[in-house]
Amino acid sequence: MQKLISKLTKDFPELQIEAGERFQFTPPATLFYASKTDYSDAEAKLLLLHELGHYLLGETDYHTDIELLEIEAKAWAEAEKLCAKYEVEYDEDFAEDRLDSYRDYLHHASLCKVCQLSGYQDERGRYHCPLCGATWRSGSLPE
Ligand SMILES: [Zn+2]
Ligand SMILES: [Zn+2]
Repeated sequence: MQKLISKLTKDFPELQIEAGERFQFTPPATLFYASKTDYSDAEAKLLLLHELGHYLLGETDYHTDIELLEIEAKAWAEAEKLCAKYEVEYDEDFAEDRLDSYRDYLHHASLCKVCQLSGYQDERGRYHCPLCGATWRSGSLPE
């Protein structure tokens, strides 16, 4: 992991790569990696490259959960390319698991708290229930 971090620091001198509580890209140019983690070294590398993918894509704004899922999928596609460059083995299953946690999140976020029906989300990110008319915002994101 340290080797990868020093390579990235050389290739992207404008990036700050810092230890933090979780893997996260914070615009404009900071990547955090979890310093205490249950992930294997290989998984941690993948997660860091995924966050680098977010940085390279430069797309961090989303209005709906579907857009969020698209951004996540793109960042994993970017991570796959970066894996080839940095000689990290890309783990398709691991990436799919991560995306699944977003899909689950999206599913739960879309359910009406009153009648459990799937609501629809407007472009400002608010969900509406077609049956009872309740509205709500999506909850907190998965890691
Ligand atoms: Zn992501
Ligand atoms: Zn409802």
